[in-house]
Amino acid sequence: MEILKHLKGLKLSGMAKTIEARNKYAIENNLSYLDFISLLLQDEYSNRASNSYLKRLRLSKLDPSKSLDTFDFNFQPKINKKLILDLQALRFVQEKENIIFMGNPGVGKTHLANALGLEALKKGYKVKMICLSDMLSMLLTAKGDGSYHKSFKELISLDLLIIDEIGFKKIPQETVDEFFEIVKRRHENGSIIITTNRLFEDWVKIFGDQVLASAIIDRLVHYCHIIKILGPSYRMKNMKNKIN
Ligand code: ADP
Ligand code: MG
Repeated sequence: MEILKHLKGLKLSGMAKTIEARNKYAIENNLSYLDFISLLLQDEYSNRASNSYLKRLRLSKLDPSKSLDTFDFNFQPKINKKLILDLQALRFVQEKENIIFMGNPGVGKTHLANALGLEALKKGYKVKMICLSDMLSMLLTAKGDGSYHKSFKELISLDLLIIDEIGFKKIPQETVDEFFEIVKRRHENGSIIITTNRLFEDWVKIFGDQVLASAIIDRLVHYCHIIKILGPSYRMKNMKNKIN
C-alpha cells in the first residue's frame, strides 16, 4: 500500500501499525474523516510513548518484573507497607531525599529499590540502577579511556540513582573518592536509593577510611528514609518449597 510506504518514510510507525484496522472500523462505524484522523493520531502518540518508555527502561537497567505489584508484603510483615506506598508517590524524588534499605540478604531490598525505580521511570524521571562495584569499575575504566567526564555527568544528572549492594565487597581504595564525589554532588541535587546488608558501623570496613566513610554517611542520611528490613530471606522460602 502506497500510504504505508509514506507513513513509514515519515516515521509514523504507530499510524502504520493500525491504519488497516482503523480504516475497517471507520467504515463500519461511519466515522467522519476528522474522527478517523484523530484516532490514528492517538495511535501514533501512544506508540511513541510506549517506545520511549521501553527505551528508558532499557537504559535504566531496572528489572520490569520486580515491581510493587509482584512484592508480597505478607511474606515480610515487619516492612511498613504504608511507608513504602507513601514513597510510591515519589515525593522523595521531588524533594531530592535518599532511601537506604538495610537488611540481611534475601529480605527484598533490591526488589523494593527496583520497584520504586520503576515508579519513578513511569512518571518520566531519569533513573538508573547499578551495583556499587559495577559503578566504580565503570568510572575507573572511564578514567582510562577518556570518557570519565561523560560517565560522571550522567550519574550526577539522574533524578534517581539506585546503588545496589553496598557491603558485599570491600571498595578498592582508589575508588572510594569517586563514590564520595558522587554522593557529595548528588547531595540536595538528586535522590539516591542504596541497598546494603551492613550496618553503618561496618561501612568503615567497606570503605577502609574512617573520615571518608563518615563524610559519605553524613551526606546520605541528611535527608533520608532509613528502612531496616527484619525478617526471613525470600530465597530460603523458595528453597524450602523445592525441598518439600
Ligand atoms: P536482597 O536485595 O535483600 O538480598 P532481593 O530483593 O534480591 O533481596 O530478593 C531476593 C529474591 O526474592 C528476588 O528474586 C526478589 O524478587 C524476591 N523477593 C524478595 N522478597 C520478596 C517478597 N516479599 N515478595 C516477592 N518476591 C520477593
Ligand atoms: Mg540485593
